Amino acid sequence: MAERTVVGRFAPTPSGRMHLGNLFSALLAWLSVRSRNGVMVLRMEDLDTQRTSAEFARTLRDDLRWLGLDWDQETPPQSQRSRVYDRYFEMLRDKGLLYPCYCTRSQLHSVNAPHLSDGTYVYPGTCRNLTPAQRAAFDRPPAWRVRVPDRLWQFTDLVQGPYAMNLATDCGDMVVRRADGVYVYQLAVTVDDAEAGVTEVARGMDLLSSAPRQMYLQELLGFPHPTYAHVPMLLAPDGRRLSKRDRDLDLGALRQRMTPETLVGHLAFAAGLISKDEPVSAGELRHAFSWEKIRGESICLDPSRLE
Ligand code: GLU
Repeated sequence: MAERTVVGRFAPTPSGRMHLGNLFSALLAWLSVRSRNGVMVLRMEDLDTQRTSAEFARTLRDDLRWLGLDWDQETPPQSQRSRVYDRYFEMLRDKGLLYPCYCTRSQLHSVNAPHLSDGTYVYPGTCRNLTPAQRAAFDRPPAWRVRVPDRLWQFTDLVQGPYAMNLATDCGDMVVRRADGVYVYQLAVTVDDAEAGVTEVARGMDLLSSAPRQMYLQELLGFPHPTYAHVPMLLAPDGRRLSKRDRDLDLGALRQRMTPETLVGHLAFAAGLISKDEPVSAGELRHAFSWEKIRGESICLDPSRLE
């Protein structure tokens, strides 16, 4: 039987310049797709209209092109898709899977609220079984949550290996639409990936725990599960995670100091795709790519190679 075409995606948040971590995930996502003659989709994740801008989106596209990473199609940005998300929201609500939640931010984050050892907050189900009269007594618009089952979600990540999570005990009922009407990332990304026919989600390791949440929503909405590859985090030389605050390592600064081939070469070497740290184009690397070569642990970059 013919293998189905791989469809991958870049899903950046246009809230600043790309930094090395974004770039690393984008490079691996692109290599995976292009090494198998797949299709690459670009989507701007701009649900947070306060922090994102069309200008950042333009710069992101330009940075991707400079690196030699292309795409076949750009789907509409999330900020323009609330009508589409409405349809799926209604589908979930009609199935009785959603309920309104009136908890305030301070209630949710109070010290008495349940937290896991890593500080993650678990929603205790406060508004799950309110009566219609109790709901009517609130005079503010609610957020909407989806009920999650007490069940283990297991999958094998292409980079991180087996991963399991019970949404009931590790997360609690999830918000799908905020009280101000804005849909949350988990719903938007699930709908967008499915509508674009995405078969492989490759992104940063910081989103690993989002995969079971999205798999659950995929199941409720009747979408197939993509495969997942959560790529290692890049650490600054002092062991911190790289972030948008590391301006000297964002693409604006890096583009002044090196060629795309030098940068791609450093990252490919750090990832274990090539045995020497030397310039190479993304296109040339296609043949060297395999997920089996990518290790799961965070990667500390050699500062002297980035100067
Ligand atoms: N928009 C997210 C980010 O830029 C990525 C979301 C995803 O890949 O699912 O971090």
